[in-house]
Amino acid sequence: MFRYRILQLPVPLEEKERPLPFLARAAGLAPSGIKSWRPVRLSLDNRREHRICWVYQIDFETAERIEETPNVVAREEEEGTPLLETPGTLDFPEEIHVVGAGPAGLWAAWTFARRGYRVVLHERGRAVEERFRDIRRFLKSRELDPESNVLFGEGGAGLYSDGKLTSRTRNEFTAQVLDDLVSLGAPADVRYLAKAHLGTDRLQIYLKTLRAKLLELGAEIRFGSRVEEIDVRDGRVRALRANGKEIPAECVVLATGHSARDVYRSLHRSGVRLEPKGFALGVRAEHPQSLIDRRHFGAAADLSLTGAAEYVLKAPADRGGAYSFCMCPGGVLVPCSTAPGQLATNGMSYSGRSGKFANAGIVVPVDLSAQGLFAGVEFQEELEARAFEMGGRNFGAPAQSLAAFVADRPDRRPLPESTFPTGLVPARLSELFGREIAGVLAASFVFFDRKIPGFVDRGLAVAPETRTSSPLRILRDPGTLQAVGTEGLYPLGEGAGYAGGIVSSAADGVRLATLARIRRRG
Ligand SMILES: Cc1cc2nc3c(=O)[nH]c(=O)nc-3n(C[C@H](O)[C@H](O)[C@H](O)COP(=O)(O)OP(=O)(O)OC[C@H]3O[C@@H](n4cnc5c(N)ncnc54)[C@H](O)[C@@H]3O)c2cc1C
Repeated sequence: MFRYRILQLPVPLEEKERPLPFLARAAGLAPSGIKSWRPVRLSLDNRREHRICWVYQIDFETAERIEETPNVVAREEEEGTPLLETPGTLDFPEEIHVVGAGPAGLWAAWTFARRGYRVVLHERGRAVEERFRDIRRFLKSRELDPESNVLFGEGGAGLYSDGKLTSRTRNEFTAQVLDDLVSLGAPADVRYLAKAHLGTDRLQIYLKTLRAKLLELGAEIRFGSRVEEIDVRDGRVRALRANGKEIPAECVVLATGHSARDVYRSLHRSGVRLEPKGFALGVRAEHPQSLIDRRHFGAAADLSLTGAAEYVLKAPADRGGAYSFCMCPGGVLVPCSTAPGQLATNGMSYSGRSGKFANAGIVVPVDLSAQGLFAGVEFQEELEARAFEMGGRNFGAPAQSLAAFVADRPDRRPLPESTFPTGLVPARLSELFGREIAGVLAASFVFFDRKIPGFVDRGLAVAPETRTSSPLRILRDPGTLQAVGTEGLYPLGEGAGYAGGIVSSAADGVRLATLARIRRRG
């Protein structure tokens, strides 16, 4: 058998599920000449409005040798031990305490459990079913549960999301996460779709399946278990305190996300080494989805074949470098506060992405490292508290049309329609952000309007978007992933400052657990 890879195979939109005849033609064979094939990557090419198509990269086998070209190249067979069966290199005790059931904690727990460890998973929030009820109650009554909300609870911040599975790095760990998602019920194409996404509705189903698998493997899951302190003595983890109770622990995997500000403060008190880092903040911009679809696909596109259009925007550095973050086509806005008296926004979508609106964070890089360890966290908190006041102290959000934002004047007409569920209050957002950040955002909106005409005139800004990434990093050894100076503590995921997004956070968990081997006593 001869093995090849075709690097770029254009396939008409309506033939997405049937690339074989196109592959055979490109290889100069009849379809029966292709003995096996496997998609490696699939993306949408919309560079030419009238010739939008899918582009596959495919590995395939033939019985006879074919001519190689720059687009069709020979390939060696890949061999290797499955990742979960590779022997670890670092000694770990048999019992592992994992704190946080977001993507990082869940995948660490699952991978450790599959490799024979006894896992205790602590999650401050509730299981998916109760979490959904808590959020519904919050949206109706405006009574925020600081332990069970859009960011805290089973699934972490990754649950109420668009479920985008994009990740800047692709490696064996991210591949394992995608394989695992397929084993939980996700469509097989998430393995190779360039812009795969799942949506909140599907994620909650997979999470319940994952919970069942963890329990089957003997893991113990403690919902409502908030870890308040990690007891570090002589540079070693000795115990953790959860809900006021001390639990002896030799190995703690800390995957508490970037919104557990109490955890950062407690780690600092325990002497764990943290450092400040740059982060980003700004607004959620909302637009009619039809505006984005028309710009990307033209007026005649069949959206049932292309899906709702996405955008990725970045303003040049000399305009402040604002950029779009976590765009949700056909999505809705969500208030994602974790403390009373503070307001933060974000966006999510369902698997169909069929809503009338598109939303994305438009954020400005901020680095307050020179002002102290907690300067970034404090700035986020101040901004969220001010937004809560401006929004009427009831989880309404301050908002402004982009046209009024750019002109820095109050809105003269009612605000455009929005999906924000707890109400909007017209505001002058430069008063929230201050002139410098507001100026950078305004310049970026004008720049983005050149890429997507109508971006300013038809857009709405809802503020503030503060939870894009962590303003702190927990120092860890790049080889062992152990906290620098604290034996037995393994900071993971977005909260540790080394990952961003669902897949990369989950992959961080897989990576740690595949490094480990059970320490044999005596
Ligand atoms: C609305 C929204 C939409 C998003 N959309 C996407 C998207 O489409 N694609 C994407 O890749 N990324 C998205 N993200 C980002 C993504 O969700 C995060 O990058 C990812 O969830 C980080 O994973 P994590 O496990 O490191 O932390 P988290 O998901 O934040 O999980 C941390 C967990 O730890 C728990 N915890 C915190 N403190 C304690 C404690 N003291 N004791 C016990 N438990 C604790 C929390 O309750 C939480 O469940 C989105 C984020 C938000 C908020």
